[in-house]
Amino acid sequence: MKHNFGAGPCILPQEVFKQAAEAVLDFNGLSILEVSHRSADFVEVMEEARENVKKALNVPSGYTVLFLQGGASLGFLISAMNMAGKNKKAGYINTGAWSTKAIKEAKNAGLDVVEVASSEDVNFSYIPRITEIPTDIDFLHYTSNNTIFGTQFKSIPETNVPLVCDMSSDIFSKEIDVSKFALIYAGAQKNLGPAGATLYIVKDEFLGKSSLDNIPSYLDLNVHAKKDSMFNTPPVYSVFVSNLNLKHLLKNGGVKAIEKVNEEKAALLYNEIDSNPNFEGATKKEDRSLMNVTFKLTDETKKEKFDKLWNDANIVGMKGHRSVGGYRASMYNALGIENVKVLVNVLKSL
Ligand SMILES: *Cc1c(COP(=O)(O)O)cnc(C)c1O
Repeated sequence: MKHNFGAGPCILPQEVFKQAAEAVLDFNGLSILEVSHRSADFVEVMEEARENVKKALNVPSGYTVLFLQGGASLGFLISAMNMAGKNKKAGYINTGAWSTKAIKEAKNAGLDVVEVASSEDVNFSYIPRITEIPTDIDFLHYTSNNTIFGTQFKSIPETNVPLVCDMSSDIFSKEIDVSKFALIYAGAQKNLGPAGATLYIVKDEFLGKSSLDNIPSYLDLNVHAKKDSMFNTPPVYSVFVSNLNLKHLLKNGGVKAIEKVNEEKAALLYNEIDSNPNFEGATKKEDRSLMNVTFKLTDETKKEKFDKLWNDANIVGMKGHRSVGGYRASMYNALGIENVKVLVNVLKSL
């Protein structure tokens, strides 16, 4: 078996992989791949998946959960279009490549964008402090975990304006207070399920309230909400497997339990990086991500030796993103502490 430290699509629990494989061959006498999305059997899966998201994250009443297509990349545009208010002006915290893309899409939607804070000056290696939030913005958008750079918000930004968050790479990894958000979106493939579905958790009072009058039907969250996430053919298999994974999560103590394990895994790896003179972390310590650990060699001449060591240990997906260099070890929910120990031993052996 290989140890998957890749940044996404993510590793899922073995039990989920097994159930997912079985359903390809037999889902109530059909394959899950051929079943009608309008069949009672699949409608039940969709309803269960939406309910399990609410259970796992303690979503309060007054919120709607949707599974759409298009990935978080379409979420950049969908969130901007749906949250546009009377000023058509939005605040964005720019903490990396994904935030930068979100800003671009908000501008494409015709919004006036204010960069409320940015860490671009030091290649996004830290979470910027917010000194002032304009009062005339329709919403404030941020990326809770920066998958590429390895930084993560440790607390939710304090603000009175509606808060929008791209939680693609740390949703379900820790407890969050959903009531603080107007809209949360996340591509499934980082911590929830296979690629294909995109999760939206939207506060009902914002549905159908956009100030834009030209939102295409598919991009209008209210259209999807009215159809119970069945406006068109949903990403059936991705929703099905995401639901298996949510059931697995809930059965094993939920987000609260996995948060403890994630903290343990991160402590194990960061402690080794900090105490081993061959390595250094790539980000500011207090802003380190528990999901994506970015680090570098202190002596580049050891690169060949180190690369051989982790490859020989059956570790995959560790090459850093080209914009950061070095290495990135992603440790999503289903990656076990035993896998992290394999990596730590490799670091020790250099
Ligand atoms: C991966 C990722 C995205 C892009 O997701 P797609 O589903 O591939 O569009 C956006 N934001 C964050 C934080 C990500 O990690």
